[in-house]
Amino acid sequence: MYCSNCGKEIDKNAAVCVNCGYAVNNTPSVQNAEDKVSVGLVILAVLIPLFGFIYWPLKHHETPKKARACGIAAIISFVLSFVLSILFFVIITPAFFELANWFLYGANI
Ligand SMILES: [Zn+2]
Repeated sequence: MYCSNCGKEIDKNAAVCVNCGYAVNNTPSVQNAEDKVSVGLVILAVLIPLFGFIYWPLKHHETPKKARACGIAAIISFVLSFVLSILFFVIITPAFFELANWFLYGANI
């Protein structure tokens, strides 16, 4: 194997050239490039948490970083929507009863 930068012969398992320091394209680095956190997938997991929950265990061995980012995004989205719906319920429900009272008995109670 030869360095693609300076042309010197280097070890085929080397990550960088010992002569010039150029990063050699090995199979592991190619695999790492595929396992990048995908913004599109994270957004999809936020919008549809179920997708993230399915994607995580499905792609866990293939692309761990990508799968984990998807899973975490799904969890955050799920927890956030749960908290927001409770907050909504807590705020809206008393307001609704107040409004119902106002309609039924008038404002001057
Ligand atoms: Zn080199």
